[in-house]
Amino acid sequence: MSDLVRRNMRCDNYCPRCGEVEETVTHAIFECPPALQVWSLSSTPACPNILPVSSVYTNMDYLFWRKNAIIGPEQDRDPYPLMIWYIWKARNEKLFRGIDRGPLELVRHVESECQAWFDANEVAQAVTQDNINEEPQVVSLGNICLLDGSWTSSANFSGSGWAWMDSSGNTQLMGTRNFPRRESALHSEVEALRWAMENMLQHSTCQSFGTDCKELIAMVKDPQAWPSFSTELERIETLQICFPEFNITHVPRTHDQIADFFG
Ligand SMILES: [Zn+2]
Repeated sequence: MSDLVRRNMRCDNYCPRCGEVEETVTHAIFECPPALQVWSLSSTPACPNILPVSSVYTNMDYLFWRKNAIIGPEQDRDPYPLMIWYIWKARNEKLFRGIDRGPLELVRHVESECQAWFDANEVAQAVTQDNINEEPQVVSLGNICLLDGSWTSSANFSGSGWAWMDSSGNTQLMGTRNFPRRESALHSEVEALRWAMENMLQHSTCQSFGTDCKELIAMVKDPQAWPSFSTELERIETLQICFPEFNITHVPRTHDQIADFFG
């Protein structure tokens, strides 16, 4: 397929922030001017010719894996996975709600989130050891897949994202993508869950999911009560067969320990 044809087919896929003709994931997270500003202000070591490059997979490979050969993952408190997530969220806020977030504000926010995350994780471990037979005092978010769907009545796309935290509270993997716009915000939440489940099945042993959407939890627990979602919920039920210890919990946006991770 020629470039021209490809371009014509994707002509409405322009970047909402800088107007670039084709907004790829690489562009949104690593190349778009506001994203570049965020990276240059962040503490992630800049490597000319390595980061950013035009392949999102090379970028991810560097951030998630190769950098761990330089700094041990246990000591690595670099907030890069959250940075990627927040750059994507900022892009969605601009696209779906018209909200502009300054790059410095975003970097400071991510760094404090990251610190809060590590602090919360240390507290959670300490509490669990002291009260081994009691309910944990602090909600431990270990080994959970947090998911989020975004939707508006006017945009052509619904955004979906997930982030898998391992039992040490480190973000191991995350994914974001756009789907053609669904009928409602709830439809996009169900879509986000389906996509997160498929990814966990493929990439991890995680069977716990977290959402800030209480209706989504109600739907999964009692699909019969939501007949207008029967097709979507059947796919979730089918996927659940592969998750014998499946559970989905409510993680409020304003939860202290994660300090509105999905802010
Ligand atoms: Zn752009």
